[in-house]
Amino acid sequence: MKLTAQIKLLPTPEQAQALEKTMLLANQACNYLSEVAWEKKTFGQYALHKLAYYACKERFELSSQIIVGCLAKVADAYKLDKQVQPTFKPLGALTYDSRVITFNIAKSLVSIWTLEGRQKIAFVCGERQRQLLQTQQGESDLCLVKGKFLVNATCIVEEPTLEDVKDVLGVDLGIVKLATDSSGESFSGEAVENTRKRYGKLRAALQSCGTKSAKRHLKKLSRKQAKFQADTNHVISKKLVLKAKAQKSALSIESLTGIRKGEKKRLRKTQRAKHSNWAFSQLRLFLTYKAKRYGVELVTIQPQYTSQRCYCCGYIEKANRKSQSHFECVSCGYSNNADINAALNIRLLGLPIVKQPIVSALAG
Ligand SMILES: [Zn+2]
Repeated sequence: MKLTAQIKLLPTPEQAQALEKTMLLANQACNYLSEVAWEKKTFGQYALHKLAYYACKERFELSSQIIVGCLAKVADAYKLDKQVQPTFKPLGALTYDSRVITFNIAKSLVSIWTLEGRQKIAFVCGERQRQLLQTQQGESDLCLVKGKFLVNATCIVEEPTLEDVKDVLGVDLGIVKLATDSSGESFSGEAVENTRKRYGKLRAALQSCGTKSAKRHLKKLSRKQAKFQADTNHVISKKLVLKAKAQKSALSIESLTGIRKGEKKRLRKTQRAKHSNWAFSQLRLFLTYKAKRYGVELVTIQPQYTSQRCYCCGYIEKANRKSQSHFECVSCGYSNNADINAALNIRLLGLPIVKQPIVSALAG
């Protein structure tokens, strides 16, 4: 699977200038190519290459590989929208292929093509990124973010083979508890919800203010909250995936957003619901990709009635769900935490993936 390793370059002032100069010229080339494409109504990368590569090469003093990267960038922009001529920021990201950037991991150096010749530039990164970098293959993007030069390098990691699963861990995604699994463990969304509320109040105050600096603060605030949310989702999804792996289990989750039919109507309009919807999708996304990464099988099941169905006798009735947190079957009297009951149902619906029949601990 494809992953990205991010490293930070530590250029000398001269090297920083060389990088910046290169980015500026390459983005000028992108704007030039964008104009040619627009005039000739030629949007595909290959056709545009045939049409404009040599003219571009003549006009801009860039390496062939960089120009090919620019062609791809322009073609990608047109892929999204052919109705407007895209323009590119002066210091937008630049794509390098392996002929114009190489990594010396042992010495923490990159060798990168610039307008001032090839530069050997020191880099720093975390341990995980460094490990990932061993599998670097293909393209890398050079970006300038808040005055820092970052390189996002594509890495190809071998996917672990899926083992035969012995059981299924059902996971119910929720609002108060972000996730509850069928073994009864739950992962609270309280911290996330609290920061959302705190930021929400701040946001309201800033919005009514309306000044330029207030707007800047708002942007910063939403970035901070998104980061906090993502961190939480990373931690939860990793815990669940590793737990399933340790138990030789597959993971079972509901398809779609995890908000069930009946509940959707009630929640749709609130700010909290909008936020939750987004948080759900992110958690699902992280679960999916981490499951792949760690070789854990993931099953998605239809979400119907998982919250109203009695895990014990299978009776389905709205009235079974006494409250947000309490489940009590009106038919057999089974009672449990509502999220755990749902997670157990989700496990049950995912069970067909297990090839060998599960032998109950009671049998024999
Ligand atoms: Zn029942």
